[in-house]
Amino acid sequence: MSGPQDTQGARADAPDPLYDRLTGYAGRPAATAGTGRDPVNAPMIRHWCEAMGDTSAAYRGPDAVAPPTMLQAWTMRGLSKDSESDDGTGRSTAYDDMLGLLDGAGYTSVVATDCEQEYLRPLRPGDRITFDAVIESVSRRKTTKLGTGYFVTTRMNVRANGEPAGTHRFRVLTYRPAQRKKEPPLRPRPVINRDNAGFWAGVAEHRLLIQRCTSCTALRFPWLPGCNACAGLEWDTVEASGEGTVFSHVVMHHPRFPAFDPSGESGPYAVALIEPAEGVRVVGNVTGVPYDKVSVGLPVRLEFLRTDPGLELPVFRASEGG
Ligand code: ZN
Repeated sequence: MSGPQDTQGARADAPDPLYDRLTGYAGRPAATAGTGRDPVNAPMIRHWCEAMGDTSAAYRGPDAVAPPTMLQAWTMRGLSKDSESDDGTGRSTAYDDMLGLLDGAGYTSVVATDCEQEYLRPLRPGDRITFDAVIESVSRRKTTKLGTGYFVTTRMNVRANGEPAGTHRFRVLTYRPAQRKKEPPLRPRPVINRDNAGFWAGVAEHRLLIQRCTSCTALRFPWLPGCNACAGLEWDTVEASGEGTVFSHVVMHHPRFPAFDPSGESGPYAVALIEPAEGVRVVGNVTGVPYDKVSVGLPVRLEFLRTDPGLELPVFRASEGG
């Protein structure tokens, strides 16, 4: 398992009173006299192997052992905190106190970063599990892509019938989330596939291409694999002259979506159904007039609008005096 890597360590001599307090917890118990909820048992081994897709014969039959990587599973409790008054976790107050200290200082987010296990003896059905855990170390303050914080490592010593069975070392990053730069909103990307790639290739050349059936000459838009009039599969294209009129339109008020609003104020905007001079109808934005000046019959002219560095779209500008 791997997670955020520290990209920048704090200078070792930089004063950090919080770090000084946190390191006071190193060596203190995170859990004492914890007990496994169930002995090592065949049903849990079977479920684990099914979930992992592990078909090894070592985990089946009368001489079965448990998969070593199940080590932590035997120490875990259920999800419900109220199910048992003696919860058996052995969790110490030191670990909670340390997390409280971090929380109070604004390091409110926690992410698991990695774990290491050592196996000292195989576990077999019937083994009774006990464990202790210690706060092994706290790192100096580090800055990661997620934010700035401290890596805290705990080490759990697991015993089976009182004999050392393995260690489970677990590391978390407790951090203050990085401030994300506010990116300007982007319009959704078109889905480009084999059926419509030619249309978008035309847009890239500032041409609005309309499909034409080579069997019956019917024009069609949007692009489709076949002709709706004659079911013909062969086609070529006609380039729109760019002249057209508004056939119909709607004004979008909600939900607000700043990427669609040329004023950037997330206000209403018009979406029009344009009838190019060649026929067919094309959905697009009308530019050059406020949304409430768009009307049926308004003459428009095709142009291309780069909405952001990754997207260019055909739009329709209201003609002079329109
Ligand atoms: Zn046709």
